[in-house]
Amino acid sequence: MIVAANFKSNLTREATTTYLATLEESVDGEGVFVFPPSTALQSHSGRVTLGTQNAYPAQNGAFTGEIALDQLDEFGIKTILIGHSERREILGESDEMLKSKFEFFATKGFKIIYCIGESLALRESGFEAVKEHLTHQLSFIDASYKDLIIAYEPIWAIGSGLIPSLEQIKQTHSSLRSLSDAPLLYGGSVKEENIADIVSIYGVDGVLVGGASLDARVFSNLCRIAKNINKES
Ligand code: PEP
Repeated sequence: MIVAANFKSNLTREATTTYLATLEESVDGEGVFVFPPSTALQSHSGRVTLGTQNAYPAQNGAFTGEIALDQLDEFGIKTILIGHSERREILGESDEMLKSKFEFFATKGFKIIYCIGESLALRESGFEAVKEHLTHQLSFIDASYKDLIIAYEPIWAIGSGLIPSLEQIKQTHSSLRSLSDAPLLYGGSVKEENIADIVSIYGVDGVLVGGASLDARVFSNLCRIAKNINKES
C-alpha cells in the first residue's frame, strides 16, 4: 500500500525536518512518500522516501525560478510528482510539457507519480467522457515505465471535501488498469474518516494526500490505517 503526502506550498524546511522525524517513528515498511516544497528538500535516510513536487527537465541551466536535476542530485532525490492538476491549471503545464518532464526523469531512472484527473463538468457528462479524458492524459507517457505510479485525482475532489462514490472510484481504477500495470493511487480529500473505505476498494493501491498530510500525526495515522487494511476481492 502506497501513501504519499503532498505538502504543496506549505510547511517550512524546519517544519519538514521535524515532520520527518515524527513520521519515521511510526512508519514500518516501504511505500510512504513525502513531497515537501522545494526549499525543504534535504538528504533523508529512513523508511520514508522524499520526492520533489516539480522540477524542470534539464540537468541545470537558465530556467529562472525552477529547480533541475543538479539541485535534486544534491539531496539524492529520485522521486518526482508530475502532472498535478494545480500545475496543469494554475501554472499552465500542457500535456506536451508534462511529456517532456516524464521522458527526462524516466531517462534518469526516477520513480514518477503521474497525476491525472477530470473536471466536475466532465464527470457530470458521464463515465465514457471521463474514461476518454484519462486515456488521453495517459497517452502522453509510457504507461509501461517500470517506476511509474499513477495517481487518479478528480480535480473537483482536491481540497473540496467531496469525493466520488466508492463505486465510481472502483469503476475508474478498473478502467485505468486496462491501460497500465502501474500501481494506482486515488487522491482528493482523503482523510482519517474515509481512508479505510477508499483503500479497501479493489484496484486502489494507495492514496495521494494533500490537506490531511500536513500534520505528521494525522498522516502517520493515515499510513497506519492504510497498511492495516484487508482488501476486498
Ligand atoms: C492533492 O492535492 O494531491 C490532494 C489530494 O489534495 P487534498 O487531499 O487536499 O484534496
